Amino acid sequence: MGKVIAIANQKGGVGKTTTAVNLAASMAATKRKVLLIDLDPQGNATMGSGVDKYELAASAYELLIDEKPLSDVVVKETTGGYHLIGANSDVTAAEVRLMDVFARELRLRTALKAYKSSYDYIFIDCPPSLNMLTVNAMAAADSVLVPMQCEYFALEGLTALVDTINKLAAVINADLKIEGILRTMYDPRNRLANDVSEQLKQHFGDKVYRAVIPRNVRLAEAPSFGSPVMYYDKSSTGAKAYLALAGEILRRSEKKASSAPSVAL
Ligand code: ADP
Ligand code: MG
Repeated sequence: MGKVIAIANQKGGVGKTTTAVNLAASMAATKRKVLLIDLDPQGNATMGSGVDKYELAASAYELLIDEKPLSDVVVKETTGGYHLIGANSDVTAAEVRLMDVFARELRLRTALKAYKSSYDYIFIDCPPSLNMLTVNAMAAADSVLVPMQCEYFALEGLTALVDTINKLAAVINADLKIEGILRTMYDPRNRLANDVSEQLKQHFGDKVYRAVIPRNVRLAEAPSFGSPVMYYDKSSTGAKAYLALAGEILRRSEKKASSAPSVAL
């Protein structure tokens, strides 16, 4: 049964989409069957997967609002070797339309039900707010992966997010867990980043991934080539960091002893 992981943080620009695309590609490179669902109307994860958001035949809108089966909406050809449910500005309308539908929080959960067994991992790239799309992601997810930058106010934002996750879990998804907290755009020479990182570990213990994503210009460049970083510059620190993250997630959830996933590039 596939594990559904929502990648969420109500703050924008913390590395959600970068993590969604590169973690999906890294997992797919380990021969896992992976689906990435883009729930952000900006469609950055879609474009970053080499799929033109302006040319989508169907998007998350059709899945959530028209209740089309996932098999009719999924894009099977991406540069990252995973399947994709794309997003574009239509998904803004989905957020509005969701307000008027029955069991509006559970649309994505219902849509995924029959397809969870077809994948090993399903990642959901959430928009930068706690709107109905994000609520749908959290209702459908087994766990939430929180990317964050180690900045001064980051811990406050994180506390707010954890509160929300706990409240949602109480109402719509009792099994929802925090998958892990990922430090992104990390600069080890930055004293504040190190301080915040220490506080994070004190608060959240081993929920904080040992894998750290460094600031790496290749990660920022790759999306403009419609590609995950590992197929743009496989020797970059960004590519290695996301492979290490995939390995850590696999070891945690599959309790395997190997230190890194084997990758065929
Ligand atoms: P979010 O989805 O949370 O809004 P993004 O993943 O889109 O965040 O990242 C915001 C910006 O920062 C993008 O331009 C992205 O290319 C860049 N970026 C993300 N992670 C890194 C990194 N580790 N190093 C350098 N640039 C990064
Ligand atoms: Mg994003």
